Amino acid sequence: MNVTGEERPGVGGPPPGEPGFHSGFVAILGRPNVGKSTLVNRLVGHKVSIVSDHPQTTRRRITGVVGLPECQIVLLDLPGFQRPFDSLTRRMQTAVDEALREVDAALVMLNATEAFGGGDRYVLEAVAAAALPGVIVLNKVDLIDGRRLGARLEEARALAGGAAVHAVSALRGDGLGAVVGELAVAMPPGPRYFPEGQSSDQPLELLVAELVREQALRRTHDEVPHAIAVEVSAITERDDRPLVEIEALLIVESESQKGILVGKGGRVVKAVGSAARQEIEAVFGVQVFLDLRVKVRRRWRRDERYVERLL
Ligand code: GDP
Ligand code: MG
Repeated sequence: MNVTGEERPGVGGPPPGEPGFHSGFVAILGRPNVGKSTLVNRLVGHKVSIVSDHPQTTRRRITGVVGLPECQIVLLDLPGFQRPFDSLTRRMQTAVDEALREVDAALVMLNATEAFGGGDRYVLEAVAAAALPGVIVLNKVDLIDGRRLGARLEEARALAGGAAVHAVSALRGDGLGAVVGELAVAMPPGPRYFPEGQSSDQPLELLVAELVREQALRRTHDEVPHAIAVEVSAITERDDRPLVEIEALLIVESESQKGILVGKGGRVVKAVGSAARQEIEAVFGVQVFLDLRVKVRRRWRRDERYVERLL
């Protein structure tokens, strides 16, 4: 993670290529909850993408970078789709088709614990139609027993038109070496898009805000449904010691929501702040001081929509 928040190079074109270096972009495709964010986090080694039991929590496309000695693989984790993928609205198809236009390979995730459906079929066919290298994984195999795994792998292979399928557990990290190997082979010659050691191109504020928001949602469940926004007002690196100071606001729409989020004696906001601080420290690899407050901004969501309409 690059704590100084350097921009991704690109304004003046990609950096000059190194001979023998390969790089490319990979779209991670799959139904909500299949484990896309978990996989990105696992492969990148840092937490760059929100993981949640609620399929809608990934609000933006998040990039993770896997750095190998001679190769850089840039992962694009697509936003969770709003409805069951099987209903296949045009919006979902457009999102998949757009993602496939700008990548060098696709990684299709299937869920070992659920029946396959129209959404899985659509994604596999779209990858085949785009003539992209596709790496297919059957995730969550830690949740099924060995006998069932064989049958599920057969089904997955049949669905993928006979292509190879990797059995993996994104959560435990099982089977991922072969996946990275297959992706690396699919990368064309190309530049090092990101400085070595940088694992995400998200602005730092956004990453911090997502981590705080995840913890707030986790601790309020459906009591403050999606009415929480996070604003990160300052991220300061101390010169005198390895410490990053962060000021952030949890923004809600009403006093009653504020009450829930603050909790008795500030218990809830303290728990959110402490959990978020630990997550942020894990990403930055440095001690973090997080100043987190709750603020009411009436109808911020309406205002946000209003602003969007003006643009
Ligand atoms: P996404 O919607 O595809 O991005 O899915 P997430 O990565 O947010 O994961 C959804 C849920 O599945 C989370 O609760 C994860 O912890 C869980 N999950 C993801 N991968 C695995 C896995 O390999 N095994 C198990 N047991 N759970 C997993
Ligand atoms: Mg996700």
